[in-house]
Amino acid sequence: MTFASAGHPRTPTQRWFADGLRRVMLAQGLEQTSPDRAPRIVLHFVDREVPRPFRRRAQASFVVSVVEGPAPEGDILPAIYPLLVRTLGNMVIYLVPRNGRALAYVVTLEQGYFTIEESDDRIFFEKVYERLFPLASAQLVINNEFHPDLEPELWGGDELTAALAEAGRRLDALRLLPAAFPIEELLSPRDLAHVKRLFGIGGLSYGNLSARRDATRFWMSASGVNKGNLKVIGRDFLIVKGYDAGRNVILLSVPPMVEPRRVSVDAIEHWMIYTSHPGVGAIIHVHAWMDGVPSTQVQYPCGTRELAQAVSDLVAASLDPTRAVVGLRNHGLTITGPSIQDILERIEGRIIPRVPMS
Ligand SMILES: [Zn+2]
Repeated sequence: MTFASAGHPRTPTQRWFADGLRRVMLAQGLEQTSPDRAPRIVLHFVDREVPRPFRRRAQASFVVSVVEGPAPEGDILPAIYPLLVRTLGNMVIYLVPRNGRALAYVVTLEQGYFTIEESDDRIFFEKVYERLFPLASAQLVINNEFHPDLEPELWGGDELTAALAEAGRRLDALRLLPAAFPIEELLSPRDLAHVKRLFGIGGLSYGNLSARRDATRFWMSASGVNKGNLKVIGRDFLIVKGYDAGRNVILLSVPPMVEPRRVSVDAIEHWMIYTSHPGVGAIIHVHAWMDGVPSTQVQYPCGTRELAQAVSDLVAASLDPTRAVVGLRNHGLTITGPSIQDILERIEGRIIPRVPMS
């Protein structure tokens, strides 16, 4: 696996961070290369006053934007997340200088965050590496292939899409589907197009819903759409009909006349769950929490095979996989049910809008 540095570590704290993390990565057997040779990990040193984007050549590059600044006042996400969007990073490491070292705020694309601070440099950089490496090495499954072969009787939807639309409205009313992050306001049209292409998203919105159509297919909400207003087949809802592991692509059936939107990046996770559990009829994913739920340990990014596998394993390990509630660390919940109505009845009054961060 390869890594590279981009931008310039200007300050003593940035140089300390660049040297320390580089030492750990070399010790772990990673190879340093140049930023234009599609490295797997890019450490992008950014000026907080002028946060410029790093444009990857490859989807597989995991870009860590390293920024230095004063301790954020108030909430962490509004202070730091815009830097992630502006620099087109997968993760921001925000360094607050302290006693010749730094307190690091780590913020991910899924809006998870945590802090790392150690009085021993070796332990500090090993902790940074331990939290960064599994995310950077995870495999994205976000490519979509559209087949205009949806049967005409489904072009207008069915009772399942009607139930999903209703569920979307209820989740929206419960404020469990945070509004799309206004990336349009933070990015130039060119950078926005780049982000959408790169991450296979229609915009940064959180949460998704799906329902099984038959033994092999399910309906799922599209990426970046307002889940409070789901309507059009091929644009708001798509039929996932398979996953081609050899080509690493999600296969979708759409009506012939529609310019299709991409399916939610979590399609691979839902596909794994439906495939392993014939009794699961519906799945929702929200950025919210419930007390006492089992949770994944590693904070893999959305749309990766590793996150899908970790969630699917916890569903399989639960007492009743057809009625499972699984926590995704620093991220949210994935909930299965025999039907979407069953899920809504089980979560109402028990769900907490704020995800605990660790
Ligand atoms: Zn999510």
